[in-house]
Amino acid sequence: MDFESKVKETIKKYKLANKKDKIIVAMSGGKDSTTVAYLLNKLGFKIEALHINLLMGKWSNKNLENVREFCKELKIKLHVYSIRDIVGYAMCYVKSVLKEKEKLRQCTVCGIIRRWIINKKARELKATRVATGHNLDDEAQNVLMNFISGNPELGINLGPVTGSIKDKKFILRIKPLYFLKEKEVEKYSKKMRFPVLYQRCPCVFGALRHKTRNKLDDLEKKNPKVKENLVKNFLKIKEKMRKSLKIKELKYCKACGEPSRQEMCKACRMLKVIKK
Ligand code: AMP
Ligand code: ZN
Repeated sequence: MDFESKVKETIKKYKLANKKDKIIVAMSGGKDSTTVAYLLNKLGFKIEALHINLLMGKWSNKNLENVREFCKELKIKLHVYSIRDIVGYAMCYVKSVLKEKEKLRQCTVCGIIRRWIINKKARELKATRVATGHNLDDEAQNVLMNFISGNPELGINLGPVTGSIKDKKFILRIKPLYFLKEKEVEKYSKKMRFPVLYQRCPCVFGALRHKTRNKLDDLEKKNPKVKENLVKNFLKIKEKMRKSLKIKELKYCKACGEPSRQEMCKACRMLKVIKK
């Protein structure tokens, strides 16, 4: 099966979206989310794009320029938000303070703040779905990292569709590249000559994710299905895990009103630490 058919099959099999949905594609400026925007648009879905300028120097400037160029070319409506306008600081500052004060991993901090902004803005834009560029490699790394760090229950948020259907404040997140390997996405993106950066985020080196990625790539040389097996086997046990974990009901953060399992959501707790 070719690349586009595999994406189409994931969308259909997991009922990721229908033609009535308004899908906001969270575009980082990288190959994965650009591919998602391109294919959803090509398949006739109603999409708009959202980009958060993380204000990480040249890296962010180039990503913003690329997203603008791509959306202009394809006539996709683009919404750009600067992290400083939303949280008051550039991402590097947020990450360094939380690393020092709370020993939090940089990618964890960035991921939580980004998801918080994306959900909030997608709701304001009246989206019914948010699409991200997560691929099979990302998800296999997530499964493994959650086990390594002793938090397998974090995995209940993994899967081609995540979020709470019952909660109207939570916009369902969909991952059309869920079963596609990073190398396949890269090949497709290069073939299509998308205007994207192929370097990784400058912060990721040395992070647990970087080491996990290298380990999995190594194992894949002996067994090409290692990432697929890891993800598919995890999906099989996920539902059982969800039932046994007695996950707390979603409520709303008392500070920002976003869906949260605690009185205050993770993003607000982080921002409170910075302001202290
Ligand atoms: P990452 O955690 O960097 O692998 O990113 C996961 C997904 O989040 C990407 O595939 C994008 O869909 C989305 N994303 C990452 N960075 C941004 C950004 N600056 N603005 C909007 N969406 C983003
Ligand atoms: Zn909050």
